[in-house]
Amino acid sequence: MPELPEVETIARGLARRVAGDVIESIWLGQKPEPLKSPAREIAAALEHSRIATVRRMGKHIVFDLEQKNTRPTKPGPTQAQWIVHLGMTGRLQVCEPRSEVLKHTHAILKLKSGRELRFVDPRRFGRLSVARAGNFEAGGLEPLEADLNRFLPLFRGRKTPIKSALLNQKLLRGVGNIYADESLFRAGLRPRRRASTISCDQLAKLLASVKEVLREAITLGGSSISDYVDADGEEGFFQLQHRVYGREGEPCLVCKTPVKRIVIAGRSSHYCPRCQR
Ligand SMILES: [Zn+2]
Repeated sequence: MPELPEVETIARGLARRVAGDVIESIWLGQKPEPLKSPAREIAAALEHSRIATVRRMGKHIVFDLEQKNTRPTKPGPTQAQWIVHLGMTGRLQVCEPRSEVLKHTHAILKLKSGRELRFVDPRRFGRLSVARAGNFEAGGLEPLEADLNRFLPLFRGRKTPIKSALLNQKLLRGVGNIYADESLFRAGLRPRRRASTISCDQLAKLLASVKEVLREAITLGGSSISDYVDADGEEGFFQLQHRVYGREGEPCLVCKTPVKRIVIAGRSSHYCPRCQR
């Protein structure tokens, strides 16, 4: 599943390609699962809209749309947003109309530039929706914009393992399994530590680690585990930098103690029993 750095990489790639372009028409497939808003609402918001920007909010890709005003009582362009969640296997492709329409294509946007933007998702956990008023809220705190004043209260009185708290999208948006493990390693915290027992100083170190890991991953174009590819079809290379994730039994890069793997809330967690307390 693409995590925050992958989604950021994809959103930046899309912004380079389609910002400023106009959606002339949209085709939506028959499968109901990918449509979180009714098909006619998606069509109404997208058709004849100009894509002003493409950006990431949490793990969502948000297309800010400007529509020509059809109601003379309200001056200026109207705003709407097209929101794409890639789920497990969702992909957005920018391509020429003549390129083969892949199986599991659920949406095709015809762009004024002559290209097409397609949404392909074999497993159909991805979601397409629109916010007609342009007021989409992704929920949770954006980790790269978080400061300590907003980060500390997330964990106050929370008896769950810190790993679970990091993965809780209502608290922090976009941090997934890989980056949670890597951040906890850099902060020297065991994944099972109760969130409420961690000192402010340690949480400050954790916030710095989360940001550091995410920024490094974004610079490297996201991790490429399973079948993630960015909008160019290029793979990211962050997996080469993993210090604990997926390294069960291998020596810790700091102290050579074998990396341990445990399961917390159904998710694999990797840590060094010596470096992390
Ligand atoms: Zn170690």
